[in-house]
Amino acid sequence: MSRVYNFSAGPAVLPEEVLKEAAAEMLDYKGTGMSVMEMSHRSKAFEEIITEAEQDLRELMGIPDNYKVLFLQGGASQQFAMIPMNLMKNRVADYIITGQWAKKAAKEAEKYGKVNRIASSEDKTFSYIPDCSDLPVSEDADYVYICENNTIYGTKFKELPNTKGKTLVADVSSCFLSEPVDVTKYGIIYGGVQKNIGPAGVVIVIIREDLITEDVLPGTPTMLTYKTHADAKSLYNTPPAYGIYICGKVFKWIKAQGGLEAMKEKNEKKAKVLYDFLDQSKLFKGTVEKKDRSLMNVPFVTGDADLDAKFVKEAKAAGLENLKGHRSVGGMRASIYNAMPYEGVEALVEFMKKFEEENQ
Ligand SMILES: *Cc1c(COP(=O)(O)O)cnc(C)c1O
Repeated sequence: MSRVYNFSAGPAVLPEEVLKEAAAEMLDYKGTGMSVMEMSHRSKAFEEIITEAEQDLRELMGIPDNYKVLFLQGGASQQFAMIPMNLMKNRVADYIITGQWAKKAAKEAEKYGKVNRIASSEDKTFSYIPDCSDLPVSEDADYVYICENNTIYGTKFKELPNTKGKTLVADVSSCFLSEPVDVTKYGIIYGGVQKNIGPAGVVIVIIREDLITEDVLPGTPTMLTYKTHADAKSLYNTPPAYGIYICGKVFKWIKAQGGLEAMKEKNEKKAKVLYDFLDQSKLFKGTVEKKDRSLMNVPFVTGDADLDAKFVKEAKAAGLENLKGHRSVGGMRASIYNAMPYEGVEALVEFMKKFEEENQ
């Protein structure tokens, strides 16, 4: 068996310890004589899995009692619709546009009400986060929406926007559990887990209780109503059971690493190696304003598309996989999520040094 260093943006690298544990439990989960994939979601064994997963997540993030944790399906993209359907009481929402995912979310919300794009960094290909300290937040906005870490462009909000008292909704798909977070600043925190937590198929929604109501837009499907899932503790219908089980293992892994403070420290250390190299390189350039750099997704270019392609190809041959940038921007992108070991980033930087020498 040989494992590569996988820099994929998602689905992405998972902790090896977690995969090994899951493998060991594949045929017989804790004496049940069956795999978690094969068991009823109403069984005692699964009830323990989902309850413990929620408890561990609450502990890791310090989620207050007046927030619900929901394990849903449909990916982050389904939340683009679910959020306005449930929150747009005045049919008005403000969106801050910092990349493709925020753009898509805003476009979807437009189906349900008026969307004000109160800030954007599209003028410079989303290479920075706009100043959000004094935005023209709409009087009647039901919420202000951000994509906190921009997976494609490699930017991250280092400071949350001043929403002037309005509810903040954040897509944290690609920075989930990468550092400590003050949950009380948000109305909704949500993310698809396939970036930094688990396998595709689960989306976690952390939502303040007062936002969970029956007063949703007319025609909102039962399955797209937060209250349905909150009332049923994410067991209204069959949840993505195996995915939740893996997420639970990752939560325990993060706890064993020392929690989110320790995760942040490790992530900063990893990102620094790569950014420091980029900052002195004569061949490679980071594409993002330094103050807004993501700890998770690091895009870079040589400035020559052919050389970029050569780099990606040779890196792959050296066991450094999935370094091709998003199809909308080109170049390279190294996603260095929680489960990417320091050695992986070191190996990447060593390879970049060598490539630079050979391609002066
Ligand atoms: C990947 C990603 C999405 C889309 O996730 P799906 O689960 O595929 O719908 C949305 N937002 C962000 C920030 C992402 O990184």
